[in-house]
Amino acid sequence: MSNASNGECRHGVRGIAAWGKPALIAAALAAFLAMPAGARAAECPAAPNLPSSDGSQPANLGVLKLQLLDYKCFGAYERDVAIVLAEAQAYVEKRADPAAKLALVLDIDETSLSNWPNLLADDFGFIFDGTCEHLPKGPCGFDAWIARQAAEAIRPTLDLFNAAKARNVSIFFITGRGEAQRAATINNLKAAGYDGWADLIMKQPGDKSPVRTFKTMSRKQIEDRGFVIIANVGDQDSDLDGGHAERTFKVPNPFYFIP
Ligand SMILES: [Mg+2]
Repeated sequence: MSNASNGECRHGVRGIAAWGKPALIAAALAAFLAMPAGARAAECPAAPNLPSSDGSQPANLGVLKLQLLDYKCFGAYERDVAIVLAEAQAYVEKRADPAAKLALVLDIDETSLSNWPNLLADDFGFIFDGTCEHLPKGPCGFDAWIARQAAEAIRPTLDLFNAAKARNVSIFFITGRGEAQRAATINNLKAAGYDGWADLIMKQPGDKSPVRTFKTMSRKQIEDRGFVIIANVGDQDSDLDGGHAERTFKVPNPFYFIP
C-alpha cells in the first residue's frame, strides 16, 4: 500500500513539474479559480494556498500519515536530516575564521529540537491549546508541550552547534515561538545540550507578520550588528527564503508546513 501510494504521489508531482512553463501553470490556476463559487464552502479561502494547486484530487491524507510514520520510525528521516547537517557542518568548519565576526543561524522546531511526541499525539494535526496530560496518547496542545520542556535535541544539529561554537562562530536561534515561551524554550534548549548561543530571537507580542518576513528581518538585524551569517539551517522554506545568509541548508520536514 505504501509503495503504491508513493508512486501516485511522485506521479502527481512530476505531472505538475513537467509542464515546465509558467503560462501553463497560470492557465491551470485560472481554471481552478474559475470553478463555480458553490464548489467552495464559505469558510474556505478565496484563493488556493499553494502556487501548485491545480484542482486535481490530492493524495489520501490517511495514507500520507502512515507514510510519515514509516519515514520516521524506520530511520529514513534521521538519515536524511543527518545528510543535510553533515553538509552544513562541513561548510561551517571550512568557512570558520576565528578572527572574523561570523554567525550561524538555527531554527528551533524540527531543526534543533524534535517535537515528535507532540506530532504523534496529535496525529500530525496542529493543536495549540489544551493540556498534554494524556501523553503519550493525545491530544497535546503545542503550547503545553513547549511548557513541558521535553523536546530532545536533533543530534546532528547539536553537533553542528558545538562545532561552530568551538570555531568562534556565534550561534543565533531564530524561532517563530513567541516571547511568552522564552523561559521554557531556554530551559529546553539547555536540557537538550545546547549551551552558549549568542541570542535567541523570538516573535514579539502583536507581531502578525508572516514567519518568512519575521525571520528575514531578524537575519538582517544580525547583520546590522556586524555579523556575517555564513549558514542558515531550517526545516521550512520560510526559515530560509529572503537572503541574508551565505548558504542555506534545509532539513526535511514532511510533517507540517509553515508559510
Ligand atoms: Mg522549524
